[in-house]
Amino acid sequence: MKVRSLFSLFKRKKLSSGAVLMYHRIADAESDPWELAVSPKNFEEHLQILQHYNIITLNDLHNIIEKRANHHQGVSITFDDGYKDNYLIAKPLLEKYNLPANFFITTNTLGSIQEFWWDALERICLQSPCLPQQLVLNNPYNISFQIGKAENEINPIQLYYKLCDIFKGLAIEKQKSLIDYLEDWANNRNQRTHYFTMTKTELLDLQSNKLFTLGAHTENHPFLADFEYPDQEKEIMGSIDFLKNLTTQEIHYFAYPHGGRNNFSVEILERTGIRLAFTTEPNCFHEDINRYEIPRFQVKNWNGKTFEGYLNRWLGN
Ligand SMILES: [Zn+2]
Repeated sequence: MKVRSLFSLFKRKKLSSGAVLMYHRIADAESDPWELAVSPKNFEEHLQILQHYNIITLNDLHNIIEKRANHHQGVSITFDDGYKDNYLIAKPLLEKYNLPANFFITTNTLGSIQEFWWDALERICLQSPCLPQQLVLNNPYNISFQIGKAENEINPIQLYYKLCDIFKGLAIEKQKSLIDYLEDWANNRNQRTHYFTMTKTELLDLQSNKLFTLGAHTENHPFLADFEYPDQEKEIMGSIDFLKNLTTQEIHYFAYPHGGRNNFSVEILERTGIRLAFTTEPNCFHEDINRYEIPRFQVKNWNGKTFEGYLNRWLGN
């Protein structure tokens, strides 16, 4: 959808800007410490509002940056990680309102029957009927936590955030074995299927609609800045190659997991010919922005009215 306003016909002194929205899950979540889930009802309210805005694809955004083109407050819709609810719930709603979106896919977890580590941790820490009072993590972590209400103890949500800090810098094998250990510790192995990711077949069906594009989001969702060049290269190139082979289409866009990156990450992306890379810094974009550091606003579980308030603030209306 392109809306050209009279305003955009005139050369303006101020650089025009727009916003890239970042969604993760479209679901009713039991608990959601990072506020990653938007309920289907609220999401539809967002789309009802967005249909009155200038919604642009990432190809449009690339053109704006490449040609330093004038535009009128473009808004792009993106999803991270490749959750199954993106296919089951977001896709039909986006189609209903004819709104384009890009999906950044973590490729090694496609079709996985395991939750992402941050969801598994949330289940273990916040959904277990009864947590033991002490958690000991031996070598190489060498740390213990007392869980409870006393002054020297931490509550389950504090434990969750502390464990997230540890997990962020771990390689995938270590994350898996630590989840295994924690599931035993909490006596909670009840994986939730509605936290799983799309299958390859679902992903192919999604991208067969011209409204949607796919972007890469690494193989295993590491915090790239914590890893050396060869590991980063494997994670980035691996996810791009996987998507290219699966879809037989070029992959032009990338999003940094957790927003984490350093000079190596950018160097690798430049070499691959990725056109734009997206962060998690909440800011608007303008046409002379660094194309490997496109900011995005995380959309939370707001109703339509609250969402519209944020959107207008982001766009400087
Ligand atoms: Zn992600």
